[in-house]
Amino acid sequence: MVQSMTNTDTADIESTVQQCRELAEAGSEMVRITVNVEAAARAVPEIKQRLLDVGCQAPLIGDFHYNGHVLLRQHPDCAAALDKYRINPGNVGFGRKRDDQFATIVEIAADHGKPVRIGVNGGSLDQALVLREMERNTAEALGRSSEEVLDDCMVISALDSTEKALQYGLREDQIIISCKVSRAPNLIRIYRELARQTQQPLHLGLTEAGMGMKGLVWSAAGMGVLLADGIGDTLRVSLTPRPGGDRREEVYAACELLQALGLRSFAPSITACPGCGRTTSTTFQELAERIQGYVRESMPEWKQRYPGVEELQLAVMGCVVNGPGESKAAHIGISLPGTGEAPHCPVYIDGKPFTKLRGTYDELAEQFRDLIDDYVKTRWG
Ligand code: SF4
Repeated sequence: MVQSMTNTDTADIESTVQQCRELAEAGSEMVRITVNVEAAARAVPEIKQRLLDVGCQAPLIGDFHYNGHVLLRQHPDCAAALDKYRINPGNVGFGRKRDDQFATIVEIAADHGKPVRIGVNGGSLDQALVLREMERNTAEALGRSSEEVLDDCMVISALDSTEKALQYGLREDQIIISCKVSRAPNLIRIYRELARQTQQPLHLGLTEAGMGMKGLVWSAAGMGVLLADGIGDTLRVSLTPRPGGDRREEVYAACELLQALGLRSFAPSITACPGCGRTTSTTFQELAERIQGYVRESMPEWKQRYPGVEELQLAVMGCVVNGPGESKAAHIGISLPGTGEAPHCPVYIDGKPFTKLRGTYDELAEQFRDLIDDYVKTRWG
């Protein structure tokens, strides 16, 4: 399942509801919000109610750090409204207080029948545990590198906390584990070890993946390997948005990753060639982008009216070399003319030549969109 996290101030109910809706409509099947201060905890029941009022059923997860035990105890309506809590064992408290505060959160979750994600993070690992394991590595001459010891600590922290959560009253089916780090090789090593040692469901994510292409590729490199191994039950792609950027990109990325591996289908796929010296116009790139945007905009309505439409495969190709072949392999494909080719665009439907489109870029886009609409209505209507 795909998860995402808002970046609004949770106390700002209007903005948080709006972003939760946008993320859910984009395909996020669970949405996490930070619950960091009193005002945020007070806002949670209203946020949940407003989402339900507009038919948004995506479970709402509260993210707690440092003061979760206080906020959940003092705001039982917040504890009741949330569908799941996420706690980080590395910063649930310090010293002797840590176990008590962890126990408080777990007991509240048990009382309300809520699941908890034990979310260990490489940036906030329990330092006492790290020190102990580093000393053990030296004393017992285990020969582990510092990096390997840190990876081991992530797994130990998650599994120890799971044991404690069970002792404090959660059932096994109420606990999900994550161990997020910022580098793909470590992520792969840690999750393979977790999968070997526990049967608890695992939430995947490369934390602090970064911006744009770097964040996308690094996330896909780490999580793709694990997902292909069958590891991972929920995931989030933690992209850093550009200032004013679209938060939904992390949802689109997670959906694409699952779809690329053939694990889920979320939206119609569009095959488009990269272009080369055989085509000097950018028409096919613009057409592919425009069709992608159209499909994305249409999906919230299509999903309701045309169940199964996410299986739709489209192709927008740049010339005669691979154009007809890829177009025939899609449900609907269009092959635009490369340099020197006749100025018409053969369209194939279900592998057979259907028509040839002509006209300006706008006319082509409109005609192709109409063909898609007709196909969707006929096949999935
Ligand atoms: S389909 Fe044609 S334009 Fe597209 S990459 Fe292949 S040869 Fe180039």
